[in-house]
Amino acid sequence: MEETIFDKILAGDIPADKVFEDDHVLAFRDVNPRAPVHVLVIPKKKVVTFTELKDRETEEVGLFFQRVAEVAEQLGLDEEGYRIVMNKGKHGQQTVHYIHAHILGGRQMSWPPG
Ligand code: AMP
Repeated sequence: MEETIFDKILAGDIPADKVFEDDHVLAFRDVNPRAPVHVLVIPKKKVVTFTELKDRETEEVGLFFQRVAEVAEQLGLDEEGYRIVMNKGKHGQQTVHYIHAHILGGRQMSWPPG
C-alpha cells in the first residue's frame, strides 16, 4: 500500500496543525485552505478510498462520521453550517490516497460544486 503524506503525519514524521486527536481519528488544518476553516479528518486505521468503507465494520464507519460531526461542532461551525467533502478517485479529484473528510466552513458555499 502506497505511503501517503497523511501516513507520515499520523506517524509524526511530518508536522501538522492538529485540532483534534483521539484513539480513532486525527483532525488537522489543510495546508491549502479553501475556506476560512478547512480541516481534514482521517481515521487512524487506514482506509484508502470511500469505496472501501463498505467492507469495514459498521461501528468503525459510524464512529468516523460521528467524530467528523464532533470536530465540526468544536470548530464552532454548527450554527452557520458547513460542508463535508470526501473526494473519491479521478473524477472526484482525490489527490491523497488515504481517506479523509474535508470540513469546510466560515463562508457561504455555492452549489453545484465544481
Ligand atoms: P483531496 O484532493 O480530497 O485528496 O484532498 C487532499 C488535501 O490534502 C488537499 O486539500 C491538500 O491541500 C491537503 N494536504 C496535502 N498535504 C497536506 C499536508 N502536509 N498537511 C495538510 N494538508 C495537506
